[in-house]
Amino acid sequence: MSELYSIVIPVYNSTKSLEELVEQIKDVFENQLKLDYEIIFVDDHSPNPQSWETLKQIRQKYEKVTIVQLMRNFGKEGALLAGFSLAKGDYIITMDDDLQHSPYDIPKMIEKKDHDVVIVAFKKKQHTFMQRLTSEMRSWVEIKYMRRPRHIKMTPFKMIRRSVVEQILSIRSAYPFITGYLYYITQDLVNVWGTHYPRKYDKSNFNIRRRWLVFLNLLINNTPFLLKAMINIGFIITILSFITGIIFIIRRILGLVSLPGWTSIIVLLTFLSGVIILFLGIIGEYLIRILNNVENKPAFVIKQKI
Ligand code: UDP
Ligand code: MG
Repeated sequence: MSELYSIVIPVYNSTKSLEELVEQIKDVFENQLKLDYEIIFVDDHSPNPQSWETLKQIRQKYEKVTIVQLMRNFGKEGALLAGFSLAKGDYIITMDDDLQHSPYDIPKMIEKKDHDVVIVAFKKKQHTFMQRLTSEMRSWVEIKYMRRPRHIKMTPFKMIRRSVVEQILSIRSAYPFITGYLYYITQDLVNVWGTHYPRKYDKSNFNIRRRWLVFLNLLINNTPFLLKAMINIGFIITILSFITGIIFIIRRILGLVSLPGWTSIIVLLTFLSGVIILFLGIIGEYLIRILNNVENKPAFVIKQKI
């Protein structure tokens, strides 16, 4: 056969949606497109044991399906990378496990396969206010610090050319952020329009806390944002203390100071040492993460493959 398409799907706690998803992908590739495909499910060590059991049953029934389970919960990015490392396709498609992304949007992506990355954009997202807020913050950081083309809408439903995926896999970080790597590797990204469906079964796995952690990972490990903010704030504080220093000296010279300014000195001292400690903390955070990366901590470990 000609080209092979690998569909990589991270799985976390889902059960009911999985077979439906396989059936839809099968229908699209076998009846509509008549193209060769493989499906790789990566169980991100779901707390719900039924996920892996369901996957094993699916594996028995469908020969195009490969299932792997991670040793522990590494998070969505780790699960995707594990899937990438096994994908044999010329094009790799990533989508969620909960049917919020529809396989029937895949043909539109394949029409644009001349581009390095094809992303399904959604006119209307089934998201809550908090989800939209964190995604707006992420967009801002991505555009400002990560070379994200301004006109591109980013979603987890996308198709990536094999050579780009190989580059992604060559980046070794314990805090991977695949979307950021995409902008780093290529600027040839395009959108196609698709539909975002409401979750049919169960609830989203990302509560506010998890979304916030994902955002911090992006900010600290994948942008120089905090370091730059630190330098800027340090700069402003230095200037302010210089000006107040001069004012104090002038007041002293003019004889306006009758009592030694113990209060102001102590206020300044505590404030400045507070700021210094805060900044040391930020540097410490970077050091910890640099150390983790130097140690070559893996972003994923596969437990089993069938
Ligand atoms: N996911 C994962 N590991 C996790 C949490 C989620 O691989 O620890 C995957 C999950 O299997 C799904 C995708 O991330 O394919 C999106 O998850 P969910 O639908 O819960 O998030 P939402 O659509 O609400 O953003
Ligand atoms: Mg979802």
